[in-house]
Amino acid sequence: MTDLSSADGPMDDHPIADRSLARPNMDAVLLAQPVRMSVTDACDVAGATYGVSAAQARDLGSERDQTFLLQDVAGAALAVMKVSNPAEDPVTLDMEALGARHAAQADRTLRIALPRRAQGSDPDAGPAAYRAATRRDGVTQWVRMYDVEPGQGRTDAASLSDHALVSFGETTARLGRALRGFIHPRAIRTLPWDVQHAAACRPMLPTITDPHARAAVTTVLDRFDSVVAPRFSSLRAQVIHGDITVDNVLMDDAGLVTAIIDFGDMMHSALLTDLAVLLDSLGTGRDPSDLFRVARLLLDGYQRITPLETDELALLAELWATRSAVTVAIGAWRAAQGLEDPAFAERYSATSLVMIDHIVGTGWDRAAELLGAPRDPRRAASARSGLVGRRDAAFGPAIEALSYTEPIEMQSAEGVWMVDADGRRYLDMYNNVPSIGHSHPRVTTAVTRQWRTLNTNLRYLHHSAVELAERLLAHCPPSLDTVLFVNSGSEANDLAWRLATWHTGNAGGLCTEFAYHGITAAMAPFSPETLPDGPNLSPVERWAPTDTYRGLHTDSEEFQAAVERLARRRLAPALTIMDGVLQSDGVHDLAPEYVQELLRLTHEAGGLWVADEVQGGHGRTGDAMWSFERFGIEPDMVTLGKAMGDGQPVGALITRRDIAESFSRDTVFFSTFAGNQVSMAAATAVLDVLDDERVLPRVRAAGEALRSAVRAATADDDRVGDVRGMGLANGIEIVKDRTSAVPDAVTAGRIKDGLRARGVLVGTTGRELNVLKVRPPLAFTEDLVPLFTDALVAALVDLG
Ligand code: PMP
Repeated sequence: MTDLSSADGPMDDHPIADRSLARPNMDAVLLAQPVRMSVTDACDVAGATYGVSAAQARDLGSERDQTFLLQDVAGAALAVMKVSNPAEDPVTLDMEALGARHAAQADRTLRIALPRRAQGSDPDAGPAAYRAATRRDGVTQWVRMYDVEPGQGRTDAASLSDHALVSFGETTARLGRALRGFIHPRAIRTLPWDVQHAAACRPMLPTITDPHARAAVTTVLDRFDSVVAPRFSSLRAQVIHGDITVDNVLMDDAGLVTAIIDFGDMMHSALLTDLAVLLDSLGTGRDPSDLFRVARLLLDGYQRITPLETDELALLAELWATRSAVTVAIGAWRAAQGLEDPAFAERYSATSLVMIDHIVGTGWDRAAELLGAPRDPRRAASARSGLVGRRDAAFGPAIEALSYTEPIEMQSAEGVWMVDADGRRYLDMYNNVPSIGHSHPRVTTAVTRQWRTLNTNLRYLHHSAVELAERLLAHCPPSLDTVLFVNSGSEANDLAWRLATWHTGNAGGLCTEFAYHGITAAMAPFSPETLPDGPNLSPVERWAPTDTYRGLHTDSEEFQAAVERLARRRLAPALTIMDGVLQSDGVHDLAPEYVQELLRLTHEAGGLWVADEVQGGHGRTGDAMWSFERFGIEPDMVTLGKAMGDGQPVGALITRRDIAESFSRDTVFFSTFAGNQVSMAAATAVLDVLDDERVLPRVRAAGEALRSAVRAATADDDRVGDVRGMGLANGIEIVKDRTSAVPDAVTAGRIKDGLRARGVLVGTTGRELNVLKVRPPLAFTEDLVPLFTDALVAALVDLG
């Protein structure tokens, strides 16, 4: 007979199966004997507690509680009633009610079964209004009533389509996110199936009768203790659903989740625990060869909402296996205690064991990689053998050779530091593309956020490209008022060439003697750095720029001669293009009057002046945003690349409206990737950082400190002919001796190698390749100068 009571107090009148295993923190429900209510009693209870007059009730079967589908005479479903395990603490049920309501409110796309208010419940009773007590034979049980949600339960996990898997992953992430702001003291509980308490399963091991299964579970628990436990407390944690499985949701015919129906395992644990549970549930019944693919689909859906952190991805394989191991152990133990039908437990264990065997057999590191964790550097080291040969085979001979005879396999980089696959750190004094520093968080966040939102082309309206263009123009003289985005420096220069020839009607070009301006067919003749010496059949003439070290070509004579050579070939210049820091010509700080005269002569000959800011722009010189500003000139076009996106491919051409108009009279410009929102986000973040970190004065100070420290440290070394530069575009010219100033490329190459051996990266440049190219990311600061000079001096000493 049913005895109704509304008592809220702790109930210790429930039978415990085996008290030897009852640890102080262990949830009593695990140990409690299920109490069975008859369907007749269920109908009585439903009427008495919630006023639901059911003609019949169907026991839906449940592990710890009892769940009844209440029906009318015709069999139509009225409500679902849950009768809790007698060991259940009502405060835990209140947490469930509050958590479910919280999640439903936080994310209205989630359909969540919410408990009804009990009949006659006190409106001020808070969460207690969502339960009613029933007392039979001295045992109190709590009753909750739910609406009948759409969909069917107990779907066979293996039957779910790929689409359903992705969607399930997404639902899981949404639920986790919806619970993020929820907290309840009762969430701190020890549920043994929560992977964080995997150690609690050790005493259960003897109940696993199959020796293979026992060994497999032990392997996983050992791995958990040694690898996961020490890192568990640093994983993102919150109140989570804790049991997101096919059994706790309803689905439609397509396998899409229609409702989440059970919050009985809510707990505070690592967010990742939800995924471990999901993988263990949805891997059920799959062929082992399909398990990681299934997992990746679930993760794809999950990470649409909540991207996983690197540490989480690295530990997910272990957590998945641990959840499977815990499933096996608890099943065996409960069966041994008579708390569970051994056949039911057996069915669960067998599928979990398949997963454990497959994960363990795959190997933990490889399993992590298959789940999307970044490659473990130790594995990378072993995969490196033969990589150079494979690279040669795949790329062929046209690609530029690797740096260094013993190439470096890079693993990661941050700021001015790069780390190779063996974990060796290098001070990066070479790379100017990661302008504001490798992996700058402002850029990586902006890029990943934008990638998750939208990445498309300029045929659609979007603020990002427009705002970036406006910001770039704000850094330019007013005559430059038009921006065209491209994807590289080469494209920017190629487009400049196209526009210049269109606008001027001229077909010739001028560049410095050892310049580099890009890879395209039009830019190749503008890139003598990469061309063999020989007859020049192109419409491009070259001039030798000022050699500031030797005091050569300080006037415009060489330039004029080049214009005349063009004229003799019946060509007039459409443009003159010049890199303001003369990176490829050996890094020279040109006199403003010199450049002003060259620009005047270009205009006089009918050509346009293109300031190639691919090397010298974005604050490289420390004086101004663009290197041409040093010369007091107004170019007709400015081209940008490299530094612009801190590594994200992006370039731009900035020009005058009349030049763009000449072009637009006949054609239009569109490039698939140009102006894409991800590149725009990166380039905008770079501009933000240049402002916020006050990069320019820092670059100037660091450059000055670097040059004077190198000069002081090498004052007595006759091989160091010249130390020069602007901001962080620097050259150290290596010569046979200071008297002859004869370039010495061999020694320069050896110094470069010696620096590498001391963990410092530089390059060589100039016509004779005898100039050490020292142009670190702009994140380089004055305090790092001694690291460089010490390594340089040591490298020089080593050479004797
Ligand atoms: N202009 C200059 C001055 C360069 O240094 C480079 C590249 N080194 C380019 C243009 C070409 O840029 P990208 O490699 O992005 O095509």
